[in-house]
Amino acid sequence: MSSSNTKTPSKPSTTSGGSITSASQECPKIKYLLADLVEVVVQNEEKWVKGAAKNLTDTSAIKTSLERTDKNQDGNFKQYINIDRDVEGQDKRHPEYGREITFRARVKRGDNKTEELGGVKILFKSRCKKAANRTTPDSKIWIDANLSVDQRGGFGSKGGAAETTVQTDDKGWTAPVSFFLSQYAGDQFGISAELDPSVNAARRRPPKLTKKYVVWRKFWYQMTYAKGFAAVQPVKAEEAYKEVFAEMVKSCQKEFEEGDLPNDLQKRTFFKEYQVKKSGRDIKVAVIGAHNKEEFGKGKLYKKDDPKGAPFKANLIICEYQCDPTCSALGKFKLEANGGVVRITPGGGGGIVCKPALSPGSKLVVKGEWSKTLTPWHRGGNIIDSCLEIDKNRSDTLTVKVDLSKGATATRGAVPVPSPEHPVYIKLKVETAKSFLGESFGVGQILCVYRPGADNTKPTPANEQDYNNTVAHELGHMWNQVPEPHQQPASMHDHPLQYVAHGGSGSHCRYGMQLLYKKNAIVSKDARTTITKCASRATTHTVASTTGFYKDHKVKVNGSSKTVLEVKDTTHLKFTESFTAKKGYAVEQKMSDYPVDWNDSNQNKPVPYNGDCMMYHSFSKKCSNKFCRICKAYLQLQDMSSF
Ligand SMILES: [Zn+2]
Ligand SMILES: [Zn+2]
Ligand SMILES: [Zn+2]
Repeated sequence: MSSSNTKTPSKPSTTSGGSITSASQECPKIKYLLADLVEVVVQNEEKWVKGAAKNLTDTSAIKTSLERTDKNQDGNFKQYINIDRDVEGQDKRHPEYGREITFRARVKRGDNKTEELGGVKILFKSRCKKAANRTTPDSKIWIDANLSVDQRGGFGSKGGAAETTVQTDDKGWTAPVSFFLSQYAGDQFGISAELDPSVNAARRRPPKLTKKYVVWRKFWYQMTYAKGFAAVQPVKAEEAYKEVFAEMVKSCQKEFEEGDLPNDLQKRTFFKEYQVKKSGRDIKVAVIGAHNKEEFGKGKLYKKDDPKGAPFKANLIICEYQCDPTCSALGKFKLEANGGVVRITPGGGGGIVCKPALSPGSKLVVKGEWSKTLTPWHRGGNIIDSCLEIDKNRSDTLTVKVDLSKGATATRGAVPVPSPEHPVYIKLKVETAKSFLGESFGVGQILCVYRPGADNTKPTPANEQDYNNTVAHELGHMWNQVPEPHQQPASMHDHPLQYVAHGGSGSHCRYGMQLLYKKNAIVSKDARTTITKCASRATTHTVASTTGFYKDHKVKVNGSSKTVLEVKDTTHLKFTESFTAKKGYAVEQKMSDYPVDWNDSNQNKPVPYNGDCMMYHSFSKKCSNKFCRICKAYLQLQDMSSF
């Protein structure tokens, strides 16, 4: 760029004849009134939108209209910002979708003449009422409540100005004025229009206002379950999402039968209940897991495009039993009779032995052999699936009946008949089933367990409330919850209560446990500093840095236990007792001194604790049945515009 100052030649005035700014304007001055502020949408033609803005008073310019009807309980209009307004094409453009809403205003003359309506300045303003949890963010959990430019609302563009001035055309209309809502769900916006103060008004009137638009998101779900299974709509999960301004819309449901599955999987999906549950019924239930879950996400059952225009549709695959195939340990047993009962050694496997094994094409017996003597072991032959039977009345889901006469092989001679006098020793390693309560996988596929017979009077795995929690939790995973460090929406800090491992699979929230630490202090990392000034018998000591230290926490000063009473500033810690400290003493706060060492994923599983978040890693009898207040903020800024 040149450093010399070039002067732009001044342009001749190009104002139109009707403009009030025209130098040739004659007296008396024309007086104006603001006649309309309408919301508009361009489909095959421009239409005005009934609902939030006032009805159009002169329909000669914009003849047709449509109505937006989705409202909050408080009468404000929902704007589903995560959905493309042209999801069904421009001819069906949805004014209530996307962040952009378009308005136009119209002026008329005080004397009702229709000439010289152009060039009148109209001032558009927006007012934002922040979502409640954005107005008073907890500085410890969310220091930066200031949205990034892209996340803010404004005229003309994301993060645009809060006001804009537009001129009218010859007919008295402004061009369409775009306003972009913020990205924080629950934020409310109202738009107003008035004559610019420089305009000669016939009467000064208050601005025309729209009702409020509220930032929402929306997604759909389908319920997929076995025919005859009494699945229920997860209305409490819907409520939990409402609290973060996300609408869960129930669409079609799909009941599957054995015939919907490939041949081999039919018998590995529908089991008599006693096969997977102690004292289970003699009726068939669906068992879904790693072995067959993909089947329910295929087009035959998952109607991805029903209804039309629903781009984010989860598939809730609801079953009474969710089990993954695993393998037992190799156990040795003594058999004193055919039909004798053995309890399989689970090892790292699951707690259920069912027949057939879950995995497609697989046999139940992984390794099976018999010997007449325990030591030395002489393999006399093999034990195969037909030798094992699951007893309807078994006392434990790991027990099987073993009958060598039903197909065991012998390398030489006959298969022995075991008796107390002549027991036969057997080695068995079998396929097992490991039980779970929910999982999200693939694109929008959610496995969730619901047991209609479970106790609803108290917290119980897979009862109605827990099923709802599972649905909300697994959908949460689908929507990036709990965000791992640096995976959260821009402008937010790392989720302070996020953890992986510690007994769970995926990323979870430890809100309940956190209450153990008092005062909502966020403790997730070890902190260490040193004393920088000697002080004798003092309660307040000077340290290099107080970063990471918290009130009420135990620390070690030069190896001896102290408790922090207050973090006074960036270099001073006040303790509950006075002591003498020397320069260079180490001050350490260790997470391993707390009930759960969050730094070590192998140690100290968290235990259920009052107030547990729905994003806790497993069933908690102390679950609040809600997203905690920390998770809510993350959900309210989560994009949700792709799976
Ligand atoms: Zn619509
Ligand atoms: Zn999880
Ligand atoms: Zn949480």
